[in-house]
Amino acid sequence: METAIKNNAQQYVDDVFTKLKKKNAHQPEFLQAAEEIFLSLVPVFEKNPKYMEHNILDRLVEPDRIISFRVAWQDDQNQVQVNRGYRVQYNNVIGPYKGGLRFHPTVDESIMKFLAFEQIFKNALTGQAIGGGKGGSDFNPKGKSDAEIMRFCQAFMTELYRYIGPDVDVPAGDIGVGAREVGYMWGQYKRIRGAYEAGVLTGKKPGFGGSLARTEATGYGLIYFVEEMLREEKDSFLNKKVVVSGSGNVAIYAIEKAQHFGAHVVACSDSSGYIYDPEGIDLKLVKEIKEVRGERIKAYVNERPNATYSEGCENIWSIPCDIALPCATQNEIDGDQARLLIANGVHVVAEGANMPSNLDAINEFLNAGVFFGPGKAANAGGVAVSALEMAQNSGRTYWSFQEVDEKLHSIMKAIYKESSEAAKQHGFEGNLVIGSNIAGFIKVANGMLVEGVY
Ligand code: GLU
Repeated sequence: METAIKNNAQQYVDDVFTKLKKKNAHQPEFLQAAEEIFLSLVPVFEKNPKYMEHNILDRLVEPDRIISFRVAWQDDQNQVQVNRGYRVQYNNVIGPYKGGLRFHPTVDESIMKFLAFEQIFKNALTGQAIGGGKGGSDFNPKGKSDAEIMRFCQAFMTELYRYIGPDVDVPAGDIGVGAREVGYMWGQYKRIRGAYEAGVLTGKKPGFGGSLARTEATGYGLIYFVEEMLREEKDSFLNKKVVVSGSGNVAIYAIEKAQHFGAHVVACSDSSGYIYDPEGIDLKLVKEIKEVRGERIKAYVNERPNATYSEGCENIWSIPCDIALPCATQNEIDGDQARLLIANGVHVVAEGANMPSNLDAINEFLNAGVFFGPGKAANAGGVAVSALEMAQNSGRTYWSFQEVDEKLHSIMKAIYKESSEAAKQHGFEGNLVIGSNIAGFIKVANGMLVEGVY
């Protein structure tokens, strides 16, 4: 009897995935994200056949809706430019659709769907009332003037506004979208709606509807999560050698908190190359270069003679370290880079970005006994504080930095605990990939059972 259920569960997952592959043959990132989750779920269906009976997986992988729209805007030379905008509203069983907007030339339907799909599970793990969504555009903000950014954001919101709302769908930032862009979109939304619906967007400027600690939240949250991983092994950040990829919002505040806990962070990067500073990253200088001057990370070596700059990002993973924190973008670590990290003695890998390790890399880490923190658990701090921003907006109030930071800290601890326990309960102790996928899935699946089929 038990074997029959086991075969059924495997068969069920295989069948749904085969159908998914056929329908989405040209969406590699989406299929990659789905496969990683599907592989984790067989034990859940074995334990709870009711999820199969209600065909939860097949229903869950089909987004509620995908909105795609034209964004026409005028550049500084008065030329009309056209980009494509997206919003994927994936699942709103737990709360309004929630997830960032990404402005990057690589954005297409596959990228949007992978991010929105991951967001469902991530948001469920936060324990906050937020569903899963994501959006963005293939617009490239690099090299654009402030006025161009403003006009693009306004044009984007002129179309998006009709699909969102504080109780419907709440976008925020992601790659290429920070407080400035959110501010321009918020202004346009407010103008069109003629109402101050602050909770429609998160990541707003503090004092203008934004929450304190939202900027720091993803990076700090990542470090709080890794702190729990290390605690499990009776270890800490003290004197650990850390490599962080990226130098955006996530990377900068991960470095800040890791250094605060006594880690020795020796490298970071941007999309052109990486810097290695054996004396430890001077974070004040990185902030000045990236946040104030808006320069490339290369500029760092002009002021730090013992640091080196290397063109291209792949080799950042050849730097020996105890802890690797990929905080740049998807698929930045493949099997080869994972093997290199392992050969150099990496002990913990935790993802600040969304899906930075491909499936090969994840398998390498797990098989080598590297303690691996998957993005949907480890980087959930950003969206968790977005939910706290929504709560503040609903209450028309502001909380102190300390209050938000403390809440973030306990949310990250809870995510670690839940993921770790779910892994143990399903026979995969220490496997946080399986644990976080299962813990997130069960919450959403139970909500779908409550709602019934529609
Ligand atoms: N873009 C972030 C993420 O990947 C944050 C989303 C949000 O705050 O809604 O989770």
